Amino acid sequence: MLSFFFYPSMTYMLWVILPSLVLAGVAQFWLKSAFAKYSKVPIQTGISGREAAERILMAAGIPEVRIQPVAGMLSDHYNPMNKTVFLSEEIMNGRTPAAVGIAAHECGHALQHAQGYAPMQARAALVPVANLSSSMAMPMIFLGIIIQPLHFMAWAGVIAFALAVLFHIVTLPVEFDASHRAIKIVEQSGMATAVDMKGVRSCLYAAGFTYVAATTGAILQLLYFISLASGSGGND
Ligand SMILES: [Zn+2]
Repeated sequence: MLSFFFYPSMTYMLWVILPSLVLAGVAQFWLKSAFAKYSKVPIQTGISGREAAERILMAAGIPEVRIQPVAGMLSDHYNPMNKTVFLSEEIMNGRTPAAVGIAAHECGHALQHAQGYAPMQARAALVPVANLSSSMAMPMIFLGIIIQPLHFMAWAGVIAFALAVLFHIVTLPVEFDASHRAIKIVEQSGMATAVDMKGVRSCLYAAGFTYVAATTGAILQLLYFISLASGSGGND
């Protein structure tokens, strides 16, 4: 049974590792190519990511949300703790569909926060649980499998891992909704033309797919753990 950790079985490689790697690869490739393409063409309205963010926050009646620079590429995020939209250099100052799309998406999270959007609250509540349970899950399953009297540990590990998977699942509506809000606001406010919108959508759909890929990988992993715990795992 040690082989489960040291020599991944064929079943594990074929049904968990391979599809997860392929999906993650496709997601990264899609994101990078969409971003490379639409961070080169200038946005026809000439607006920058920062200006778009300022306009969105002002129009939403949440001018208290700050906009701050953050190091790194595609490191953009919203921090509900200090009500700050963090934008990377390229997004902050870029006058491209990619910059405006990503900046608007992060503002979408600020809007969710301001409105008490339920999936965002659920996600925030799951963060500490998911962190702890995902690190506990593997050792628990491992112990439960090699020490038969402690087999219940394997199932406890599966439940712990399921909580981490739930975190991934709850992240999906949060991310999709932020992009949906971004697309709607940018389009309706005239911050982007119909041509620009193609780039805005393309970048946000690609970013959204990275979360789908991660969630699918986590679900496959969970199914495998369930099959191991129930004794039908493919340890060939
Ligand atoms: Zn997001």
